[in-house]
Amino acid sequence: MSRTESEPLSQLDPRAPLVLDTRELGRRPGSQREVSRTVPAPADLGIEVLGVPEGSPVEIDLRLEAVMEGVLVTGTARAGLEGECARCLEPISDEIEVRFQELFVYDQDVDPDEELEVSKLQDDLVDLEPLLRDAVVLALPFQPLCEDDCPGLCAECGARLADDPDHGHDAPVDPRWTALSALAEPDQAED
Ligand SMILES: [Zn+2]
Ligand SMILES: [Zn+2]
Repeated sequence: MSRTESEPLSQLDPRAPLVLDTRELGRRPGSQREVSRTVPAPADLGIEVLGVPEGSPVEIDLRLEAVMEGVLVTGTARAGLEGECARCLEPISDEIEVRFQELFVYDQDVDPDEELEVSKLQDDLVDLEPLLRDAVVLALPFQPLCEDDCPGLCAECGARLADDPDHGHDAPVDPRWTALSALAEPDQAED
């Protein structure tokens, strides 16, 4: 069994829209840089029923700040959301603004015991995508609704009740009456 080459750790592409180069900060604690950019949304930015459509614009404002152990990234992201109401399935369009902050530690400073728990700089590059994805997913409602008090769908026919507040069907026969009429007509009770 041989490995001819050591596999590179998923190498970051410095030109990718969600990858930031921190070399300008020179690893000097205290130096900082502001970055604003609009990037196309990566795939699967959201949850199954609500999310940022892939390729749609995400506006990002960031501050990159060199600290002793690495680079602290603080930012906001704004994007449009598309999805559907969890109660009535009506399409939902909304906007989201999320804030995030994460310390990206210089590669050689990572304690091997913590390796899986910290975000690392790779060749002085920051990968914003996981950070953005976590912030967006956390900010989304578990069950998105078209309006806070969406009445959902009619259990009888599936009509969207918000479109037809007076919606109704002939009241089903009260089960107590059914029982009474069965008593009144004992001949038909058995068969
Ligand atoms: Zn709804
Ligand atoms: Zn109905």
